[in-house]
Amino acid sequence: MTTKRLYYDDPIAQEFSAEVLGCEPVSAPALPAAPLWRVKLDRTAFYPTSGGQPNDTGRLGDARVVEVLDEDDEVIHVVDKPIELGSVKGIIDWDRRFDHMQQHTGQHVLSAVFHSRFALPTISFHLGSDICTIDVRGQEPTQEISDKAMAAANDVVYADRAVNVRYGTAEELAAAGVRKTVERTGTLRAIEIEELELQPCGGTHVRRTGQIGMILLRGVSRIRQDWRVEFACGRRAERLAREDFATLRAVAQRLNCSPQEAVTSAERVVAERDAHFKSARASIQKLAEMDARAYLQQVEVGADGLRVVAKLFENEPAEYVQSFARELAQAENTVALLVRGEDGQIFFSQHPTAKKDMNALLNEALKHVAGKGGGSRDSARGRLADPQRGSEFLAIATAALRPKP
Ligand SMILES: [Zn+2]
Repeated sequence: MTTKRLYYDDPIAQEFSAEVLGCEPVSAPALPAAPLWRVKLDRTAFYPTSGGQPNDTGRLGDARVVEVLDEDDEVIHVVDKPIELGSVKGIIDWDRRFDHMQQHTGQHVLSAVFHSRFALPTISFHLGSDICTIDVRGQEPTQEISDKAMAAANDVVYADRAVNVRYGTAEELAAAGVRKTVERTGTLRAIEIEELELQPCGGTHVRRTGQIGMILLRGVSRIRQDWRVEFACGRRAERLAREDFATLRAVAQRLNCSPQEAVTSAERVVAERDAHFKSARASIQKLAEMDARAYLQQVEVGADGLRVVAKLFENEPAEYVQSFARELAQAENTVALLVRGEDGQIFFSQHPTAKKDMNALLNEALKHVAGKGGGSRDSARGRLADPQRGSEFLAIATAALRPKP
């Protein structure tokens, strides 16, 4: 039996009474621990999920309405307790519904503005629990277009135009200016925003555009061939504006400036950080070079004619260890086998006259101590899976480099 949908003509009804026509357990509930029932009523003010607008929640008698489904002509209420046949009182969670009405009506306005002013028709609409989106098709909605669309949409809000419900056949609505072709037959419902648009729609809307509150665009991104426009209306826009400003204030506080100066201040801090980083890196490299040169004086030449430096570093930046290896390899017949203790980074380097193969040596040693890496004959890098095994790894690499006769 067709359920009479009270929200069609009375979208602000928060309470209603109805006859319970049926109540049966949901055969395969998503959560076996929480059994659910499907309830049919002769009439309802509960909006079922459809047309991009999520369902209402609320109460039917003592039962909690957790979901509302649109099944052909019937509205199915999914509840957490069985309900007896006969009369029942329904109450809708009004804050949730009013939020949906603000977002949904705001979407009509935004879509109409994008279409009429910028030839960007709306392909789909999504009303999420945090953010709402429309996907529009056509030219890219640049910052300038978005700004203009937002201003034009808010002008419609400030003009406080009436939002009317109209009924008619597809032909009648087409004659009245409905652009969209409709497949359904019989009497159709359409939403008219005065002096703006007429659209077939089964959703719930505010009575006048002023009730939408502010329409706030939050960003545009490419989505396949279309453009996804994020927006929020009314209380959501209010909440987001509040949160955005709190974020800005927190950033400004950390930067020791006013919110208005935050961008300039952040740019300066980043530039300073980059400059410090550059100069610190240069100093570290210089220090490593000097240390390596001094260190080399103490290393004896072996019977094989090589100077081999195998060293485990603790508490030195990776830049330092790498520069140390590079500098050692500037000296003839020298091989550097270095490991950084904190993270197990490996730096192998040789002067070409040493005539060894750093890449082969690294891979050989990594067969015994887990890790990965690679490189060339003269230079190879890697990392140990377990940084604790640096000493063991160096002993194996040294032994492989200088096999005992
Ligand atoms: Zn609508």
